[in-house]
Amino acid sequence: MYPAAFEYHRAVSIADALALMERYGGEAKVLAGGHSLLPVMKLRFASPGHLIDIGRIAALSGISESQGHVVIGAMTRHADVASSAVVARTVPAVSDAASMIGDVQVRNCGTMGGSMAHADPGADLPAVMVALNAQIVVTGKSGDRTIAADAYFTGTFSTSLGAGELVTQVRVPVPATGSGSAYEKHADAASGYAVVGVAALVTVVGGKVSAAKVAITGLSPMATRLTGVETALVGQPATADSAAIAARAAGSVLELYDDAQGSAAYKSNLVVVYATRAVNHAMQRANG
Ligand code: FAD
Repeated sequence: MYPAAFEYHRAVSIADALALMERYGGEAKVLAGGHSLLPVMKLRFASPGHLIDIGRIAALSGISESQGHVVIGAMTRHADVASSAVVARTVPAVSDAASMIGDVQVRNCGTMGGSMAHADPGADLPAVMVALNAQIVVTGKSGDRTIAADAYFTGTFSTSLGAGELVTQVRVPVPATGSGSAYEKHADAASGYAVVGVAALVTVVGGKVSAAKVAITGLSPMATRLTGVETALVGQPATADSAAIAARAAGSVLELYDDAQGSAAYKSNLVVVYATRAVNHAMQRANG
């Protein structure tokens, strides 16, 4: 299938991209890796008259560590996130998720900013960003806004990114000493997207969990915190038993239905299994 005709613009800088976005307004779409936008255009669910390619803007790519954060540029490809030593050392849940996205081709093309902007309910990175207290930096004509991931994702394919704004960075705080993070996923066999994915950040002090943040993707309309699991973990010994017991609270915020991916009962079991694995893995990393 072919998309409707469009005019192609290659932005040479962030300012250039913002100017093009302002000039073409609602007629334009930003093109990053194209691995979500182009399928949608080929199906004619979207027919933008103008595509603004941000792929050559050097300032949007790269990974660095700065002031207690890992900073990932919006055009950084999933493959580069997955292979980053900085990311693996500081926020391994991000490495876990990036390395599990789709296949090699998807990881070589798809980008951090595209994943944040598209906000697919089955995408991996949004849940990780919620669990790890990340901030999404968006840039518009009036400057930068920094939005907590918790507040940034507002619904299915929906975010607080404004018209004329570009996602420019994701800033992930480096967790405190004694913390561990992990992401575990049950992938759809055909697409690779998460049927369920769970991200966990756990801090362990004196053998007990002092703080926990856990978020799910796939079985919820958007990346969503599993607050019941978090509450059940805090104060408990950092053991596999505690992970398994706390994970039983995972279903409490979810509305599960029977569909082509399985029955509600199957999914209810799946979420407990993957919450257990993610919390347990995060605890192991926290314990060094
Ligand atoms: P694009 O497709 O270029 O853009 C997507 C949307 O975001 C468009 O509306 C675009 O205008 C907007 N946009 C892009 N960048 C910005 C920006 N910086 N600022 C503002 N708006 C922007 N994802 C997963 O998480 N897990 C998977 O397992 C997975 N499997 C996949 C399998 C296949 C076969 C395919 C095709 C995709 C899969 N994906 C998966 C999605 C993949 O990760 C996409 O690359 C990602 O969702 C979007 O990134 P992109 O760079 O391709 O964005």
